[in-house]
Formats: sequence, C-alpha cells, structure tokens
Amino acid sequence: MKEAGEGKFCPFCSTRLEYEYYQYAHIGKFKCPKCNFGDNKIYKFITDVDLKNKTFKVDNNKFKIQFNSIYSIYNFAASITATSLYDVKYDEMKKALEKFVLNNGRQEKIVIQDCETTINLAKNPTGANVSLRLVNEDDSEKDVLFVLNDNLADGKDVSWIYDIDFSNMNNVKRFITSGTRAYDMAICIKTSGISPNKIESYLDLKEAVKALYKTKNTKYAISNYTAIQETRHEILKLKTSSNENC
Ligand SMILES: [Zn+2]
Repeated sequence: MKEAGEGKFCPFCSTRLEYEYYQYAHIGKFKCPKCNFGDNKIYKFITDVDLKNKTFKVDNNKFKIQFNSIYSIYNFAASITATSLYDVKYDEMKKALEKFVLNNGRQEKIVIQDCETTINLAKNPTGANVSLRLVNEDDSEKDVLFVLNDNLADGKDVSWIYDIDFSNMNNVKRFITSGTRAYDMAICIKTSGISPNKIESYLDLKEAVKALYKTKNTKYAISNYTAIQETRHEILKLKTSSNENC
C-alpha cells in the first residue's frame, strides 16, 4: 500500500474508492461508494494466475504466456475480452499469446555473458514499482541497473522517483545507477535504507553496463523513457561481442 496511490479516487465524484482487492497503483476490484463507479459488468474473468509457470485460465481454458507480471495478465485480460466480442476463438488466442514476446525493452529477456537479463521500461512510479515487483518475485541473487534521464521527453522533474519503493528488495546484491540523473537515483535508493556499499553510480552508461556484468548474478535493467533504447543498445553490444568470442 506504500505504492503511488494518486488514482485511488473516483474520477467522477472524487470519493475515495473502496477496494475488495488490490494489485498495484489503482488496479484491483474497486467501487465508488457514492456513485458506483467501478461496478462494471464482467465480460471475462481471469482465474488460476500462476506467475511462476506463466499460465492463467479463462472459462477453464488454460493459456500459456511468455510473461510473468501481473500487469501483463491485465493486458491479456483486455485483449481476450476485446477479441471475444468479435468471436475470435480461444484456441486462436492461445496460439497467439503463447508466442507473443516484446523485444523493445518491455520485459525483454536475453542472456548476456551467461547472465539472465531482463530489460524493462519504467517512466513513472507505478511502472517502476511493478518492475521491482518482478525483481522481487525472482529469488536468485540479482544486480539491478537503474538508468534515469531527465531529457525533455522524460520531464525535468525527477522527484517521482521518491514514490518508488526500494525498501523491501529480495536478494538484490548491487544497485547500479546511470543516466543524466544517476546520482539522484543513487541518493533515492540510499534513503530507502539500502546500504551505500551496495550502490554504484556511473554517469557513463557504457561504464555502468560494464560494471553490471562484473558478477554472474541475474541482471535486471530498468530505464526511463529516453534511456531505454541506449540501455538496450549497450547491453546488446555485449551479446554480440561474447558471441563473436565463441
Ligand atoms: Zn464516484
């Protein structure tokens, strides 16, 4: 509940929404006690969500997917609902979702120098918190790279990073920060209670990526808007060079 909660109020009458259950940010089963906003007809209900094995069910049909985040499940709920209204069969959707991957820094998974690496975009506290949730659901020893830029498209005000919850990280061995606001990111992580010995900062992204792969821990790279493609580029460069060495 420490997550950013600015959306937990009714957009019609500003009353605080009442939640039956809660997933992240404003997402969950809610209803406005004053005007009933949120009391929607349910078209499709996703059950048996298994994030470890990446499966879920709709009307007792089991779907296998390539993602293990709760926000992906919400996206798939929306697409299954929409396609069902156009009579697309579950079997067709199963085939499509089973193979569906994003290779543009949205939960992109690659192996770099024998390290499982996940690259994810986070441009607001909600995105960052769900990215950290993914990190926490993985029990292995991990290093996390956080790249924060403050270019025009990112917004010059980076105070939103203080709505990211770094206080309960599971088995993260090192935080590496980079981007034009690498030091702000480092201070933010430190003030969350993480030991400064675990934090390394590099204004130069190349150096940050090099430092990230100093160990064999699992890697997570989280970047904001203008940083995501350069972060991918630097990480993927290591893939090419290691392949050439082979
Ligand atoms: Zn309301």
